[in-house]
Amino acid sequence: MLKATQYGDVTEIKMGRSIDGVTALYWVAAYLIDGILIDTGCDYSKKELADFLEDKQVSVIINTHHHEDHVGGNALLAKRFGLRAFAHPETIPLMSRKYDLYPFEVEIWGYPDPSTAAPIGTAVKEGGATLRIIETPGHCRGHISLFEEERRILFSGDIWVGERPKTARVEEDVHQLISDLRKFEELRPKIMFASLGKAVAEPQQVIKRTRVYLEETRNEIRRLHSEGKSSEQILDELFGRESVLAPVTQYQLSTKIFIESFLREPRVIQRFVAES
Ligand SMILES: [Zn+2]
Repeated sequence: MLKATQYGDVTEIKMGRSIDGVTALYWVAAYLIDGILIDTGCDYSKKELADFLEDKQVSVIINTHHHEDHVGGNALLAKRFGLRAFAHPETIPLMSRKYDLYPFEVEIWGYPDPSTAAPIGTAVKEGGATLRIIETPGHCRGHISLFEEERRILFSGDIWVGERPKTARVEEDVHQLISDLRKFEELRPKIMFASLGKAVAEPQQVIKRTRVYLEETRNEIRRLHSEGKSSEQILDELFGRESVLAPVTQYQLSTKIFIESFLREPRVIQRFVAES
């Protein structure tokens, strides 16, 4: 299933697997700006995406990260249109081989065909747009966000999913996520396009509230932990109950993981130095 919406110069392409033909199980968005396609959705929607792009001007693909709902159309778009993709050097080996998915991921997004990408530099210039690459590895290794300086448009990938997140996955690093949000604040975007298919106008305050909420949550979790409380006890005290998403995601996305992420040391981030 695919739904496209125009926001000024940006085309939002929301995609997802549909069982009933009415709505998607879970939306994910790709964005098109001045011939640059940011992400390619999941395997279930790859043909619809390729058909949609048939009469559009697309010169290049940028993948924000390797997750199966962001690279699912890459191989088909390369085959049909000869499109090249660019991604963070840490993302490339992850998208070029098949890796195991959990049953919920297979159900919602499916296995992406392995695809290739070239290492991205510090910026991508194409058809009037200059997208600056912002390293934002809080969601997973190699995650990047993109910023169009002139129009102050931020493509935030999977870094911002809502104002008060209460779940995380093991590969997420909430300390890094806080730093990533700080980087977004410094950019002073006029509009933010998030991968879950949400356009937020004047997002400065929303981003700040999310960052402050995460910092306050970190303080609370650390305080309770220093009192000798377990992550289960902290969960009861701060959130009342585990997220409803936990059982349906085989406990890969949960509030317990969210809490434990605050108690881990920040991950050591490998920087990349490629020049465009
Ligand atoms: Zn992701």
